[in-house]
Amino acid sequence: MIRHPNRRRIVAWVLAATASIGLLAACNPKQIDAFVKSSGGVDGLTANLKGAFGSVDQPKEIEMGRGVAETLLGARPLHDDPALQRYVNEVGAWVASQSERADLPWRFGVNDSDHVNAFAAPGGIIIVTRGMLRLLENEAELAGVLGHEVGHVVRKHHLNAMKKGAWTNLLGAGASAATAGKGGGALVDALVGPTKELYSRGLDKDDEYEADRVGVVLATRAGYDPYGLAGALQTLGKIKADDPYLALLTKTHPNPGQRLDRLGEAMGENLTRFEAQPRNEARFAAAVKALRTAKPD
Ligand SMILES: [Zn+2]
Repeated sequence: MIRHPNRRRIVAWVLAATASIGLLAACNPKQIDAFVKSSGGVDGLTANLKGAFGSVDQPKEIEMGRGVAETLLGARPLHDDPALQRYVNEVGAWVASQSERADLPWRFGVNDSDHVNAFAAPGGIIIVTRGMLRLLENEAELAGVLGHEVGHVVRKHHLNAMKKGAWTNLLGAGASAATAGKGGGALVDALVGPTKELYSRGLDKDDEYEADRVGVVLATRAGYDPYGLAGALQTLGKIKADDPYLALLTKTHPNPGQRLDRLGEAMGENLTRFEAQPRNEARFAAAVKALRTAKPD
């Protein structure tokens, strides 16, 4: 397991989410440790991992997502502002409740990064950076950005990419752990690598375009101006492409102009009748006020 100073806080945060819908028992944080310890040698481990990846049911997806979130949050702690966390969680949960996977233990958080980014872990954990929040202009844009991430979870984009991509690394790590005479701990550590690799390489472009379309539909169903995501993409498009705070987003997503083109084609005139739906500028401004006045690290 990875160790870092914020691990307990992150685990507590994720547990709070799962506990709220009564899934605590199904998501014991010690499960992965026990799972690895109980497997006998590389053969047993391989069989168990094959089982884990072969058919991923919902509890397994949620458990994997917690591991992913823990790995990704390791680099940056959650932002210490309970009111802001609550606000983002409420907007996100409302948007996610419009999806066909409303029953997932959705959890939304803000992390302490000035980079402009947002990411989704399987099972419904979604993080948006404070750098992204500083850039957005209203709640409809936030709903669109969170809706895009919800789209990745609903369509299982990361889960499917993990199923496809993680195997070679995992099996390679299993073999080297066995030859070095190490136990399962080395293999658990090896799970961290594929996660980081996937989230720094990004998904297929088509997954990104699909997440944009799903995000717009969900934000519109949630009662927001359908053009929120487009507004956020326009703002992103104005930032210089070589801005270091945009580097990861640029690397992992098609450029904002391409996304706007594809989104425009998909939306056509279909949603114009909803354009008078609210953007909640004032509520958003109040929620992010402290972020705007604080100096970036
Ligand atoms: Zn995306």
